[in-house]
Amino acid sequence: MRLPCLVNGAPSWPIYNKSVQPEKSLPIIVADKLTKVYAAGRLQVTAVREVSLAVEPGEFVAIVGPSGSGKSTLFYLLGGLTQATSGRVVIDGVDFATLSDGERTRLRKHRIGFVFQKFNLLPTLTGLGNIEIAYAVSGRKEPMDRAYLDHLSDLLAIKGRLEHRPSELSGGEQQRVAIARALITRPAIVLADEPTGNLDTKNSDAVLRMLVKSNQELGQTTLMITHNPEAASVASRILYMRDGEIVRQEKGAGSFAGSGVQPVSAVAGTVPVPATV
Ligand code: ADP
Repeated sequence: MRLPCLVNGAPSWPIYNKSVQPEKSLPIIVADKLTKVYAAGRLQVTAVREVSLAVEPGEFVAIVGPSGSGKSTLFYLLGGLTQATSGRVVIDGVDFATLSDGERTRLRKHRIGFVFQKFNLLPTLTGLGNIEIAYAVSGRKEPMDRAYLDHLSDLLAIKGRLEHRPSELSGGEQQRVAIARALITRPAIVLADEPTGNLDTKNSDAVLRMLVKSNQELGQTTLMITHNPEAASVASRILYMRDGEIVRQEKGAGSFAGSGVQPVSAVAGTVPVPATV
């Protein structure tokens, strides 16, 4: 059984949305009984235990849980950055397990944009240089769309900051450059791993606002991992992880209302977790 989940309405900028929003309404991310066991010396650690979930195109889903609950491992599994011990990951109808390493890398480059806690910007390049090199590495044949970059710079409020190196930018600006870098290839999916983990409240609020805005305007599916329930509350759906399992899900606000915003479960009610969430 699957619960209906929130899917964003019509995007406000159809020209740019066209390339990132798949036509079909099948789930774009499916995890089927996903398990990851690490060997730590003679011990085995089950970091993710039989997790099943489905994310609809355009959804903004947050996965929240305490340190050690398996969030990062799930992130790496869903992003094709590590292989499952058992179970399946299906991205846009394609089962990762059926792909060679090269094909998996290509799928990742074409369909997924990554945002990391530590920004991972190259320190010797400007913000623009970082975005350009990410675009070049993605292997796309067509030249980078400068008008689209202008739009992203407006959306992420980093216009005028792109000529600076990361060391000359605030943490929040660096993360917004990193988001532009993730979005420049128009991925269908954005995976964000603790995107506000290194930021103070003000910068964290700005990054969350931008993630919500870009999700709503550009229509890409967004999946954010966080240990912070406040950050998670901006998502349209919140999945709670503990000891490698998804133990609960709630509706989120689906919008940014400033720091201190609470999950709306008090209004919407906590939803029991079905076999596939
Ligand atoms: P979270 O992101 O929620 O902090 P992780 O996915 O990093 O959780 O870790 C989940 C569990 O797996 C923890 O017990 C952690 O110690 C363990 N773990 C994570 N990575 C490895 C690894 N490479 N080798 C062994 N154990 C690991």
